[in-house]
Amino acid sequence: MNILVLNCGSSSVKFQIIETDLDLIEKNADRRLASGLLERVIGQALITLQAEGQAKVRRAEPLRDHRDAIDCVLRWIISPESKINNINSLADIHAVGHRVVHGGEKFTKSVLIDDAVIEQIEDNIELAPLHNPANLKGIMAARELLGPGVPQVAVFDTAFHSTMPDTSYLYAIPYQLYRRHRIRRYGFHGTSHRYIAYRYRQLKGIKREEVNIITLHLGNGCSVCAIKNGQSVDTSMGFTPLEGLVMGTRGGDMDPSLIEFIRNKEGMSVREIDTMLNKQSGLLGISGLTNDMRELLDEEAENQDRRASLAINIFCHRARKYIGAYLAELAGADAICFAGGIGENSAIIRERICTGLAWMGLELDKSRNTAMVGGKEGEISTANSRLKAFVIPTNEELLIARDTVRTVKNVPRRW
Ligand code: AMP
Repeated sequence: MNILVLNCGSSSVKFQIIETDLDLIEKNADRRLASGLLERVIGQALITLQAEGQAKVRRAEPLRDHRDAIDCVLRWIISPESKINNINSLADIHAVGHRVVHGGEKFTKSVLIDDAVIEQIEDNIELAPLHNPANLKGIMAARELLGPGVPQVAVFDTAFHSTMPDTSYLYAIPYQLYRRHRIRRYGFHGTSHRYIAYRYRQLKGIKREEVNIITLHLGNGCSVCAIKNGQSVDTSMGFTPLEGLVMGTRGGDMDPSLIEFIRNKEGMSVREIDTMLNKQSGLLGISGLTNDMRELLDEEAENQDRRASLAINIFCHRARKYIGAYLAELAGADAICFAGGIGENSAIIRERICTGLAWMGLELDKSRNTAMVGGKEGEISTANSRLKAFVIPTNEELLIARDTVRTVKNVPRRW
């Protein structure tokens, strides 16, 4: 089957076409046929498209909304210009898999989208006001443009974390707030953490129930997940993606009293403070320079910029603190696994996070760590290291495509 995987953000649309099927999954032989990114979808959009084996196509085009963006993608996919293998018409797209950020408590696995599911995703808008509306726009547009005969599947960022025990997901605030408003930790990046755990299991040749690891997704957004017997038992993002690690522009953990304090001192509204915590904090807020880790590392190396160093050090300190906490929570783990733009590409950040973890048995192999960049996958700890470390480039789109096939064919999920 050819699966169109859509990831619709508030002002962007990312897509891939993946050829997969039950036997291809079994053989790990699924293939990406094309991918692309449309930025600034409301306005003069920047469009990047690429069929596998072909050169990237870049262009600008005025787009009004997500429907226009998906229409533009579909027109390119079936055009002779794209040269995508085996796709000549829309009939060659057999199903669509959507990344949906918030599934609330209702969705614990991927589901076939029907009117009732759309209604429930709408109900979850108040939990993810920035994300779920864009995801819904993508669903409605794909349904309209491809017709009701093409099945669509929702794959939720929160679903993998639905196995967390109440001791992890409840906040220590009056319990009736959970009862009344479902205020709790949901966790995000679930598809990424699930993929990393799945690859780790494959690399080690072990059963799902034997996976006891800590996964770190370190990109512009960052989260850690404690995985016990193959299931998420805790994660650093919370009710929203703001909690936990230091991220590109999000501050992660802080004392909630600061909101009232900042409101009084700075004369800001709660909404403005919320924006500040989400968009102007984290690496950007501390450094005052950029949310981009690569640029911060350059500033530190070339100009010895004090605040760039501080931002990097706080980032690594927070990550290390979570590793320690989750090792205690898991009563020990077999490995920590890095993914995301930073986790997959920055040997120096991995080294700085792991510095000081030798006492708990983690010993990085310097040359393996340095070599494991640019999409490479493998172990970066020494042969004697009691706690292992891995780099596992994430691939959420592949899991979304596979979930879509299994859901459409009504085959239970295995990973
Ligand atoms: P993502 O959101 O997963 O695309 O990750 C984006 C983050 O990865 C940005 O902070 C980038 O600066 C960072 N990144 C990508 N490549 C590198 C690299 N070689 N060294 C350090 N950070 C990198």
